[in-house]
Amino acid sequence: MDEIRVILEKSQKIALENPTKSYKLAVQALEQAEKQGRALESGQAYFRMAYACRVMSEYTEGLENAFRALNIFESFQQHEGILQARNIIGIIYFYYSDYKTALENFMIALDYLNSVENPKLESSILNNVGEIYRMAGDYEKALEYYSKSLELALTHQLFINISIINDNIGEIYYLQKDYKTACDYFNAAFESSLEVNDRITKGEAHTKLGKIKYIQGNYELAKEHYIAALELFNQVNNKFYLVEALIAFSELDSHEGGNPKPHLLEALNYAIENKLALKISIIYKRLVDYYESSHEYRSALKYHKLYHQNEKEIEAGNLSRKLELLALEFSFYKEKNENEKNKLLSEKLMREIADSKAELEEIKAKNRTLIEVSIMDELTQTYNRRGLNQFLEEAISKSNGDYDVLLMIDIDHFKTYNDYWGHLEGDRCLQRIASKLKAQDYKNYFVGRYGGEEFVCYMKVADVNEAEEIAEKIRKDILDLGIRYTKNPYSEIVSVSIGGVVDKMTPNAISDYINAADKWLYVSKEKGRNRVSIGQGL
Ligand code: GH3
Ligand code: MG
Ligand code: MG
Repeated sequence: MDEIRVILEKSQKIALENPTKSYKLAVQALEQAEKQGRALESGQAYFRMAYACRVMSEYTEGLENAFRALNIFESFQQHEGILQARNIIGIIYFYYSDYKTALENFMIALDYLNSVENPKLESSILNNVGEIYRMAGDYEKALEYYSKSLELALTHQLFINISIINDNIGEIYYLQKDYKTACDYFNAAFESSLEVNDRITKGEAHTKLGKIKYIQGNYELAKEHYIAALELFNQVNNKFYLVEALIAFSELDSHEGGNPKPHLLEALNYAIENKLALKISIIYKRLVDYYESSHEYRSALKYHKLYHQNEKEIEAGNLSRKLELLALEFSFYKEKNENEKNKLLSEKLMREIADSKAELEEIKAKNRTLIEVSIMDELTQTYNRRGLNQFLEEAISKSNGDYDVLLMIDIDHFKTYNDYWGHLEGDRCLQRIASKLKAQDYKNYFVGRYGGEEFVCYMKVADVNEAEEIAEKIRKDILDLGIRYTKNPYSEIVSVSIGGVVDKMTPNAISDYINAADKWLYVSKEKGRNRVSIGQGL
């Protein structure tokens, strides 16, 4: 065999275990093929480069190489090459979530299979088409393609394919909550994964079985499967599947009354390291749920913000990637100068532009919620500290001859309330009091949560008397809620103490005024609580 073929074969052999080396070999083959003017081998080298890129998740470069390979194979009418290139192109579009273009490429590839005998490739492509229908939510069509694919794989004893397809079919039943059937398929996937050495296939089968055992309430077995999966993914150092297994594992942690945080944070590390944006979002969401359920609202809010920020980046990333891909396609079709293709492409461009517009709208909407989230307190839906500072500065700098009023409102003996009723009821009490505060209506009025059970209210008044009247009304309104400290209907009613300061304020002294209001609050507490103390000036 001549040297170029030897190098190409070697590149193919190691593509999955060592894609970097595989890529280098392909480049080497390409150089030699070009030197010797052997165009077909150049095409094969480009294809190997594309394949290695796909394994390394270098999708844009992979697509470029696949297009080059395709061009060459088409000019030779080399059918097997064409269909392999189309398959890779389809897979890369699939990863980019452009399912329509992915499907177009798979369909063209399937067409070529009439003239090429390659059951392994055919089974893979049929499975890929099934994947597209699954993503599109058309489970019936997905199953149709998966079954065809599985039949071929079974006939030819393609164990890796058998395992993967069974996993995919099981996933369809899992999504439809038919866990019993899902379990049968996951078991079948597991069985055939025992026949192969591919650790990713094996690990995937373990993760899926773990998910089923978890749902069936068999937590011990679920745990064993997850541990096995983690071990396998760690061996091949595949972070993508590792992250997925860790997320599944964390669900089990919280169900067993344990703490899901360690597995989630480990998953987050890998996900960030490998830029797995979709996974990052899932993890942030789980962290928000966890912190909310453990009443650590500050952390919940932090991850909530990170979640929105990440979603925003995903949207923006999608957009720029689409443009990148379009530019790439344009340059290739221009090379071929085919009017037909240009027409198709401009139709596609119109479609993309419409999509982009919708996407931009979505980004804007997300931005709005992001802004809202970062200044709002989640529990009470009043402004948080950041929001308070922002609005106080704005309000105070708008001087119009009126006096500014800052009220600091603290719930009396709230610890007692919490201890008696429990934290959840405590939260509800906070919410009811916050609602009452929000329902007040004064000039330039707004409310924020300053900390635990302390609120700040701001308004403008004509004179000190008016401030005292308002504070007194607020105190009474809270009392009128009639929230009792214990079950005993004659027990005391939850009250608040209020400290306030009135002045023509300047924005740079806000913290001094807050301190002053706090001091007056202390006076109210000292005097026996459930009362108002207002001071004028600093
Ligand atoms: P005082 O009349 O002197 O203000 O007494 P207090 O018990 O209200 O004051 P203390 O500062 O000792 O206790 C405040 C309590 O508020 C303690 C804490 O458990 C509770 N708390 C703070 N933030 C929250 C929250 O978000 N939810 C619930 N349920 N309780 C909270
Ligand atoms: Mg208190
Ligand atoms: Mg307090």
